[in-house]
Amino acid sequence: MSRFTLAIHGGAGTIVPEDMTPDLEAAYLLSLKAALNAGYAVLEEGGSAVNAIKSTIVLMEDNILFNAGRGAVFTKKGVQEMDAAVMDGKTLKAGAVAGVRNVRNPIELAMEVMLNSNHVFLSGKGANDFAIKQGIKLEPDEYFFSQFRYDQWKELRDSDKYSLDHTHQRLEELMKDKKFGTVGAVALDRNGNLAAATSTGGMTNKKYGRIGDSPIIGCGTYANNKTCGISCTGHGEMFIRTVAAYDVSCLMEYKNMSLEEAMVEVVQKKLVAIGGEGGMIGVDHHGKPALVFNSKGMYRAYKTSEKEELIALYQ
Ligand code: ASP
Repeated sequence: MSRFTLAIHGGAGTIVPEDMTPDLEAAYLLSLKAALNAGYAVLEEGGSAVNAIKSTIVLMEDNILFNAGRGAVFTKKGVQEMDAAVMDGKTLKAGAVAGVRNVRNPIELAMEVMLNSNHVFLSGKGANDFAIKQGIKLEPDEYFFSQFRYDQWKELRDSDKYSLDHTHQRLEELMKDKKFGTVGAVALDRNGNLAAATSTGGMTNKKYGRIGDSPIIGCGTYANNKTCGISCTGHGEMFIRTVAAYDVSCLMEYKNMSLEEAMVEVVQKKLVAIGGEGGMIGVDHHGKPALVFNSKGMYRAYKTSEKEELIALYQ
């Protein structure tokens, strides 16, 4: 098998042209393109799907525009707690971390859990201790700070509300400076192996150690060479309740649906039925990508070895 594909997202939500400035729109398009090309180059050189998505996610985590790594949203306590997961569709190995602080690239820590621990999912201080032991790069709080996310949080901190970083109650005021986005990537490599990864700061003003779908295998992130790889973005609680990513794989495996059909079933029907806003990207085991969302927009892109390419923000 030699066909290869990379699909990525930078978050879903109230992403509409009216709220964008030309500069901001251009910055998102450029950032998506750079992240897409980084992972695609790995695939083109014959690299693995796992390495391709890692290259893509690291770049997006380092980019302050996205709600992952640098630029992550603030919790109720005014700190940044990040979640990430990766899954290898060939071996069904997975690694995930939740509520980690000061880790420059949470995706690298999730990979470390997958490859060099006996576990799948580490959280909080334990995950941070593991990061230190494994020599994963840490950064001070200031590194992760961004004024716009801080302003978003200030709007909510005295309330019990928490929000998707791109779907606020007071959009008019906030949208002008708003930069959004959990990030995700899914790849099929030249050897027919699939992998998926997701990284996020979660939801603005989250508390009590809240964890969303992103780092939960089967909910926000899943990969299986038999079916597909999936990375989700949106209101995590609903993606957990619908076991969204694994459900897509199951609909393909047990009901013979195509990737697109399965994603439409989950995103447009099952999630909508319980008020779950968001979307997901996927690549099937033949390298066909699909990007489905029920929100106003989703930062998304894909590129295939068949010369198909898309970079888009809106519906
Ligand atoms: N799904 C993420 C969460 O609930 C948020 C997002 O996708 O923006 O933590």
